[in-house]
Amino acid sequence: MLNVIIFLGSPGSGKGTQAAKLSNAFNYKHISIGDMLRNNVERKTELGLKASGFIDSGALVPDDLIIQVVGKFFEDSASSSDGKIILDGFPRTEPQALALEKIINNLGIALTSVIYLNVTDDEVISRLSERGREDDSPELVLNRLNVYRNQTEPLLKYYSQKNLLKEIDGNRFPDLVFAEITELIGVEA
Ligand code: ADP
Repeated sequence: MLNVIIFLGSPGSGKGTQAAKLSNAFNYKHISIGDMLRNNVERKTELGLKASGFIDSGALVPDDLIIQVVGKFFEDSASSSDGKIILDGFPRTEPQALALEKIINNLGIALTSVIYLNVTDDEVISRLSERGREDDSPELVLNRLNVYRNQTEPLLKYYSQKNLLKEIDGNRFPDLVFAEITELIGVEA
């Protein structure tokens, strides 16, 4: 049966790094919504053209657009994948979380874990200033942290109430963080 792991955490918390490591180690399909969006912006697709202004200002791309894209991904992979899926960067809002639940319930997919990488703002700011992506300028990082606080952080409570949240101290070296993740989800991996 398909199952899904979600990575939650602020920008720069290491979601992408850890999701990639985990997918390699345990054969998960890694879906990074941010990478997918940037790829669409580069190719100037309809989605890319609609999304680029939001990304460039540090805002979230509107829910309906993102939900459509993710819905389509699950429809396509439900039939083709035997798999295990890691969602990196989705959901980021409550409407996205509700939509995801609907999508996966309809397809008989289980949400097994929500891994929350908890990182201090100081650490985030220092990491992103080194990364140097276009949306990593100091001003945009502050915007994205604000957006995270207001729109994404409420999901921590949502998933904690469902007993799915696994909190990890993400301030440490990537290998240590990864070791803890594998320990936490080892049984399901
Ligand atoms: P980070 O986690 O460092 O913010 P991402 O690559 O995950 O990097 O996201 C980059 C940008 O892509 C976000 O600032 C936002 O504009 C857009 N984005 C990514 N995921 C979503 C989502 N689930 N909903 C809306 N916008 C998103």
